[in-house]
Amino acid sequence: EEEVGNKGNNYISTVIPGWFSQISLMWPGEAHSLKVEKILFQQKSKYQDVMVFQSSTYGKVLILDGVIQVTERDERAYTEMITHLPLCSIPNPRKVLVIGGGDGGVLREVSRHSSVEEIHICEIDAMVVDVSKQYFPDLSVGFQNPRVTLHIGDGVTYLNAVSEGTYDAIIVDSSDPIGPAKELFEKPFFQSVAKALRPGGVVCTQAESIWLHMHLIENIVANCRQIFKGSINYAWTTVPTYPSGVIGFMLCSTEGPSVDFKHPVNPLDENGSHSKAKGPLKFYNSKIHSAAFCLPSFAKKVINKD
Ligand code: SAM
Repeated sequence: EEEVGNKGNNYISTVIPGWFSQISLMWPGEAHSLKVEKILFQQKSKYQDVMVFQSSTYGKVLILDGVIQVTERDERAYTEMITHLPLCSIPNPRKVLVIGGGDGGVLREVSRHSSVEEIHICEIDAMVVDVSKQYFPDLSVGFQNPRVTLHIGDGVTYLNAVSEGTYDAIIVDSSDPIGPAKELFEKPFFQSVAKALRPGGVVCTQAESIWLHMHLIENIVANCRQIFKGSINYAWTTVPTYPSGVIGFMLCSTEGPSVDFKHPVNPLDENGSHSKAKGPLKFYNSKIHSAAFCLPSFAKKVINKD
């Protein structure tokens, strides 16, 4: 039995004879497992444990602190949705900020939008970017776009220095709130997001699972209600390798031109949907965009309670 991980740090990741199991206090009592063909990379960065392995059925897999971030097979269910839900909801997004997202997948998706002129990304961990460039070419292709500027640093610090009203859209592609991403789920962060957006600008943040983290989601929703004076919505998608198989997004807009997230006004053009460099869209379409905002009754009761 080979142990990869740190019991003192809220997670235990064990490769039990040939399998990776995702065990964490964030989802007690359950563990999804993938069969490992080969461990390709394993190192501790300044911020987290970074591992890449070749799985039997999901392609290469990126793990940070024992938690699956990306697999080659299902990443598009996440990257396409976290990107196009906000960007297809506003006309002509021009300036976009990505926080986290060091694998590059969200950048690849943002660059499908021909109206976008500048894409800034602030990722805390240079090792994630390097590892993605080495092992995940279909994701890291996102960094090759000349519109992209990469900044290595903490997203919270970065945002605090941004002038008011700079961005049309901010996408927070973060890891879970245990570890370096903790502050990305807290109120002061959402306040600086709101400030950095133009009137009627939009934010989309990774907002965990309705099956596992209703309390976290309730808290995020309550914070956003106080801070964002435009629309506030929760959407979700299925990602088989994320804990519980689903993940959600918090979508908010600032005061200004109103944004109706459920009815996208900015469909991807032929060029974006069938880009030669990025391949065709695999998951996102306008119907799934609107459907993503339909919530199961138990979640609706908590999220839309006011
Ligand atoms: N799709 C993934 C998921 O939901 O599990 C998230 C993927 S992405 C690789 C998450 C990235 O956020 C990681 O590369 C991590 O280093 C980065 N990150 C965590 N905390 C951060 C912070 N405070 N500022 C900027 N980036 C951060």
